[in-house]
Amino acid sequence: MDKRVLQVMLPYFTEHFGNAASRSHVFGWAASEAVDIAREQVASLLGAEPGEIIFTSGATESCNLALKGVFEMYASKGNHIITVGTEHKAVLDTCKHLEKLGGEVTYLPVGFDGLVDVQQLEASIRPTTLLICIMYANNEVGVIQPIRHIAEIANRHNVLFFCDATQAVGKIPVDVLHDGIHLLALSAHKLYGPKGVGALYIRRKNPRVRLTAQQDGGGHEKNMRSGTLNVPGIAGLGKACEICQTEMAEDARRMALLRDKLEVALLQIPGAQVNGNRKHRLPNITNISFPHIEAQGLMLRLSKYLAVSSGSACTSASIEPSYVLKAMGLTDELAHGSLRFGVGRFTTEEEMDFVLEKITENLKTQLI
Ligand SMILES: *Cc1c(COP(=O)(O)O)cnc(C)c1O
Repeated sequence: MDKRVLQVMLPYFTEHFGNAASRSHVFGWAASEAVDIAREQVASLLGAEPGEIIFTSGATESCNLALKGVFEMYASKGNHIITVGTEHKAVLDTCKHLEKLGGEVTYLPVGFDGLVDVQQLEASIRPTTLLICIMYANNEVGVIQPIRHIAEIANRHNVLFFCDATQAVGKIPVDVLHDGIHLLALSAHKLYGPKGVGALYIRRKNPRVRLTAQQDGGGHEKNMRSGTLNVPGIAGLGKACEICQTEMAEDARRMALLRDKLEVALLQIPGAQVNGNRKHRLPNITNISFPHIEAQGLMLRLSKYLAVSSGSACTSASIEPSYVLKAMGLTDELAHGSLRFGVGRFTTEEEMDFVLEKITENLKTQLI
C-alpha cells in the first residue's frame, strides 16, 4: 500500500470512529464526509458521477453483484450472458453459478495473442442476451481487450456491458463514458490501496442500469449493498485513486521501461517468448514462457529472493497450468514453463538488476 494512503486511513480507525450511516451526530457526519470524498475520487478517476459508485469488499464482490444483480433484475428479458474463457475466476465461477440457476453462458475463445474476436462476439449475441462481460485487461498476461469496440457492439444491440477493470484502473486511462461501459468492477489493493475494499460503477443514464441486491440488510449504498461501510478502507481507496489520477502517466512510463528491460534480457534465453499481444497491454505485466523449464521448480528456487508466480495469486494454489495460457493455445508444457512478472510503483532499477541476475543464474543451471 502507498504510505500516503495509510496516512489518510489512520484517523478513521480511531479519532473519527463514527458509522457513516449515523445521521444524527457529528461522529457519523465525519465518517460520511470521508465516504463522500472517496466516492468523488473514485468517480473522478473513472469519468463517472459519484452517485454511480457503490462500495464493496473488493472486485470479487463487485463481479458477483454485477453478474447476479443483472441476471436477476432483467430475468424477464432473457438469460444469456457472453463472457470470455480468460476472465478472472470471480467472473467465471459466478457464471458457472448462474448456469445452475438456468442461465446460458457463452465463453468466447481468445486468439494466441489473448484478444477476443469482436466479430465472433457480435455473432454470439442472441435475442435473450442480457449482458456482455469482458475484462479490460487480463491479470496474468496484461493484454488489453478492444473495449470501445466491444462497447459499441453492446450498445448497438441494446445489451449491457460489464467490464472487470480491476487490472486496468489506475494503470491506464479508463473512462466509462468514452469507453461505453455500463458496469465496472475495481479493487483497492490492485492500485496501492488496502485489501478488502473495492467498488462497482453502475451507470445511471444512457442507459440507467438497475441491479437486484445480493445482500440484504440496512439498505446501505442505495439499497444495492447493505452492510456498515468500511470507512477507513473506503477513504484509502479514494486516496489511492486520487494518487493514480495524478501520477498514473509517469508511473506507467517508468514501469514499462523496467518491464521492457526485463523482457529484453530474458528473451536472450533460447526459445523464450512473451505471451499475449505486446502492443495492446498494460505497462506493468509480462508473462514469459521458457521452453524446457519447469516454472514451479524455478519459482521455488527463486522464492527466497523474488515474488514471481506462474499464474495469478488467485489461482496459484493449484498446480494446474494456467487456464489463461491454455485458452491462448499454449501447450501444457509451455504453460508450465511460464512465469508472470509484475512491476510496481515502487520497483527500482537496482531491484530489477537483482531479479535478472537471480533468474539467469538459476536458468543456466537448469537448461537442458
Ligand atoms: C484481483 C482481481 C479480481 C479480484 O479482486 P479482489 O479485490 O481480490 O476480490 C478480479 N478480477 C481481476 C481481473 C483481478 O485482477
